Amino acid sequence: MVSRVIPVEPFDLVIFGGTGDLARRKILPGLFRRFCAGQMPAGARIIGAARGDIGQQGYQDMIRGAINEFGAPSAESLVHLDAFIAQLHYVAIDICGDGGWGELAKLIRKDLVNAYYFSVAPSLFGDIAARLNSWDIATPEARIVVEKPFGRDLQSAKALNKVLSQQFDESQIYRIDHYLGKETVQNLMAVRFGNLLFEPLWNAQYIDHIQITVAETVGVGGRGAYYDTSGAMRDMVQNHLMQLLCLIAMEPPSHFDPDAVRDEKLKVIRSLAPVAAHHVVRGQYDATATTASYRTDAENPRSFTESYVAIKAHIENWRWAGVPFYLRTGKKLKARTSEIAIVFKKLPHSIFEKSADEKQNVLAIQLQPNEGMTLDVTIKEPGPGGMRLVHVPLDMTFADALGDHSEDTPDAYERLIMDVIRGDQTLFMRGDEVEAAWKWTDPIIEAWEARNDVPKLYDVGSAGPEDAMALIHRDGRRWREVK
Ligand code: NAP
Repeated sequence: MVSRVIPVEPFDLVIFGGTGDLARRKILPGLFRRFCAGQMPAGARIIGAARGDIGQQGYQDMIRGAINEFGAPSAESLVHLDAFIAQLHYVAIDICGDGGWGELAKLIRKDLVNAYYFSVAPSLFGDIAARLNSWDIATPEARIVVEKPFGRDLQSAKALNKVLSQQFDESQIYRIDHYLGKETVQNLMAVRFGNLLFEPLWNAQYIDHIQITVAETVGVGGRGAYYDTSGAMRDMVQNHLMQLLCLIAMEPPSHFDPDAVRDEKLKVIRSLAPVAAHHVVRGQYDATATTASYRTDAENPRSFTESYVAIKAHIENWRWAGVPFYLRTGKKLKARTSEIAIVFKKLPHSIFEKSADEKQNVLAIQLQPNEGMTLDVTIKEPGPGGMRLVHVPLDMTFADALGDHSEDTPDAYERLIMDVIRGDQTLFMRGDEVEAAWKWTDPIIEAWEARNDVPKLYDVGSAGPEDAMALIHRDGRRWREVK
């Protein structure tokens, strides 16, 4: 089966912060891949905007280098590089001053789809929004794309929402959480709501518990100073893990349209019970003989910031009463993996030998490093050895049936940017969702701060602190292996 690529309408996309790390590493290499796939039309333009006086040629050279360095272009795709680069423009602009705005205003073709990507520090969002309007650049149909972090608590998120809503309608604001752009995340919705098979079992009667794991092998690296003011709870749980939790736990929306989906996600967040202190474990990676500690990486010898967090959460509604959601995320762990595991209950009664009913069906949704979905089922071991049972993973990614399109399957950023151009907000967070998520995480963080909570140390290359193991072992369950 060949995947269909439907070109989007011609557009002008302005990237504020167009020379920054995110633009060079992700946004522009992603757009180049969409160009090669035939999704970005010839009439489209990308306008980089930053303060540097590098000129159009300088910008084009910079992005050519970035695509070669970060985009891993294939030999076939490089044939298209010149044509893509020709669609790049550059405006030297000072977001906080007046320089460059007149030039940008002249460049924008208002009769096309206009999108403005705010790939800059959140403290600049308000200035961009205000100037886009005072220079009469943004049309009522224009879209703005904003990056995480969206605030550092409820109060700052509300302030950001207020600043943006003074200039733009909610229907124009696209808050990116790139986890939502992953193929398997959307496949999760397809599997749940496109089949009769799973939904009847998707509740407290049949599901024992759910695990969401986002494990990284990297430390805080060059982001130490920023990360030390944030920590795993703000950096990962409040956005990525909670968004994944919402997609698993939400009720079926009446339609697959942006507000119907986001209404259901919001209800999940609002149904989350406050988390008891003994249901949260914070960790910080420790030094080994060959690797530095978190404190060294963050250049803060007295840091109490967590590089790991594990939480046992509960959703207070009929569907999920009594079903624990175990969330964990951390840096410098033994493997890089992102996985959602739906662990079904044990058989109520087994007609087979005792060991067979120990095994539970598990639907595992792998987001990283490879995207895929498996369902662990019990079958008879082939051969003449009698009725011996084995537990095997049933591959639900259907790679063979759908063909291998890893070359032309868009990554999360590409997909989301194309959704912006198409005007589809389904995979973007709404303002009220972000605020509700902070409302749930704020008390957890405030409690840590109030008692000067010291994170538990864990070894680099381990699966996290011992206390996180105890969190789930106490319930007679085990974390899935981080591998
Ligand atoms: P960065 O490397 O520091 O780049 C910042 C960009 O903004 C540069 O192009 C800079 O160019 C421009 N800029 C700064 N001040 C400006 C001003 N007053 N007027 C005009 N342009 C200005 O930052 P980044 O890593 O790309 O991150 C951008 C945003 O994405 C941040 O909000 C970050 O939290 C978020 N984010 C980044 C990543 C990532 O992987 N990097 C991941 C998730 C989210 P000049 O200095 O030349 O003006």
